Amino acid sequence: MVMHALELLKKEIPLEGEQVCIPQDVITGLVLVDIINGFCTIGAGNLAPREPNNQILQMIDESVKLSRVFCDKKWPILAFLDTHQPGKLEHPYPSHCVAGSHESNLVPALQWLEKEPNVTIRRKDCYDGYIGSIEEDGSNVFVDWVKNNNIQMLLVAGVCTDICVLDFVCSTLSARNRGFLTPLKDVVVYSSGCATFDFPTTVATEAKDALTHPQEIMHHMGLYMAKGRGAKIAKDVSFGH
Ligand SMILES: [Zn+2]
Repeated sequence: MVMHALELLKKEIPLEGEQVCIPQDVITGLVLVDIINGFCTIGAGNLAPREPNNQILQMIDESVKLSRVFCDKKWPILAFLDTHQPGKLEHPYPSHCVAGSHESNLVPALQWLEKEPNVTIRRKDCYDGYIGSIEEDGSNVFVDWVKNNNIQMLLVAGVCTDICVLDFVCSTLSARNRGFLTPLKDVVVYSSGCATFDFPTTVATEAKDALTHPQEIMHHMGLYMAKGRGAKIAKDVSFGH
């Protein structure tokens, strides 16, 4: 049933990813969205996978590979970590990634990033990393990161394709279009470097107030919506010399 719907969806709204080569002379920043235990590690809370999930495992592998390349090149990385104060809920989701908990920290495969000098870690308490980067004085940690590093291209990976990744990409493209993010030109979403969660219709209908969320369909939709805002969708990322 789900496969049938997915095939139909891919026929109605086809999405062909590009092969993106990042030239050595184009300053590129890697944005890692919420690759934290609460969304990626089995059993780590209300929104964590309950069993091994291939899309999430692949997303982690690809993010680790990209992070290694960026650290070798000493290119900037910004990692968003979803982190909420206790009792402050994010409707329609149950409590997740509470500050100070294991859930709100990077997955084990990426914890080494905390010690890398080219990495900026930003905890955020909302879906959208752009909005979550606003400080009390009105400054924006993400905007400053782009400007201070003269970033011309952004490569985006993480979870969830159709939620936090999409929201961040939408806000970033609107801000870029308004001239807030000079010299940023391109925003590239790496499809295999992104994942979303699986909450199939059969399970969702049994749970009260739960939104159905079939993984492959929502992942596809997230990428398609990002493309509709002007992001490039990469099926493959390579690095030029
Ligand atoms: Zn959250």
